[in-house]
Amino acid sequence: MRPAYASLDARALRHNLAQVRELTGARVMAIVKANGYGHGLVWVAKALTGADAFGVASLEEGLELRAAGIQQEICLLEGFFEAAEIPIILRERLTPVIHDHHQLEALRHVRSDRRCDAWIKVDTGMHRLGFDPAEVPAVAADLAALRFVDRLGLLSHLACAEDFASPVTILQIEALGRLPFPGLRRSLANSAGVMGWPAAHADWVRPGLMLYGVSPLGRTVPAPTVLKPVMTLRSRLISVRRRKEGDAIGYGGDYRCRENMPVGVVGVGYGDGYPREFRSAVSVLVQGRRAPVIGRVSMDMLTVDLRDMPQAQVGDEVILWGEGLPVEEVAEAAGTIPYRLLCGLTQRLPRRECP
Ligand SMILES: *Cc1c(COP(=O)(O)O)cnc(C)c1O
Repeated sequence: MRPAYASLDARALRHNLAQVRELTGARVMAIVKANGYGHGLVWVAKALTGADAFGVASLEEGLELRAAGIQQEICLLEGFFEAAEIPIILRERLTPVIHDHHQLEALRHVRSDRRCDAWIKVDTGMHRLGFDPAEVPAVAADLAALRFVDRLGLLSHLACAEDFASPVTILQIEALGRLPFPGLRRSLANSAGVMGWPAAHADWVRPGLMLYGVSPLGRTVPAPTVLKPVMTLRSRLISVRRRKEGDAIGYGGDYRCRENMPVGVVGVGYGDGYPREFRSAVSVLVQGRRAPVIGRVSMDMLTVDLRDMPQAQVGDEVILWGEGLPVEEVAEAAGTIPYRLLCGLTQRLPRRECP
């Protein structure tokens, strides 16, 4: 069997949720969109029994959670995309985010005995989805007039929370704070908000990335809490060869050996979701020690410099990211963000879950 797989650690997931609780004391909507950031939607939700709610990007994801027996609130972070989804939302007790007038208009035509909660999305400065703060009183009145809407909340999203020096976050916190409606629940903080902006913690926080053990702050800013990586991308050495000085390695022969050296081939590639383009050097762990990736990454394989571990042999375990090698580091070398790597694993890569 091909040795590449992602191992998934449920204990790490629960540890990270406990860290969110400790930092915030808030209610937690665990964000599990994009197939649980690549970790498996249902697996993540089942491991996080302590979450107060789950946040997803689509009705399909919400239905998958309900079908798996998830009882908590399930929030559709972009609400519905067409009116035909509304009866299903009501039937399955899902909680839509209402962010646009077209959604209000569709809701006005609904006749139903069933009821649901809803969040009003407020644009406090991200300028992506949501109503202007000035529109919110009218929107709230419209929703309250619909007899099937029970509990309303105010939800907004932070645009620059990773940057602790940015003035934007304070302005966003204040903009949400200025809205009246003392009785409505509120939600603002994503992972970076949880980590760096205590004033954004009330009443509900919405962590995604940090639940998976990854910091949105990059590697330069120390995280205020110890997170444990949930996913470790693993494979093995499938070949080890001694190459001669001057040998060119792989497609295009980009890498040329400057001396006689051992080169290992790892059974993982961009066809599994490992990045192909890097803007700075990147390493993997072979038996726990760093080995630089050399030459071009292929679809199913990549090559590593084994000069520091002449004892390495076929079958040795290789870690691409996760335990001992933060995905933040690989993302930075690839000029991307860890989110992209986690949810970019491909279908063919097996996932193995540990309880
Ligand atoms: C994805 C998302 C989050 C979680 O963001 P992280 O940076 O992963 O913590 C929170 N809120 C909304 C509305 C989102 O779309």
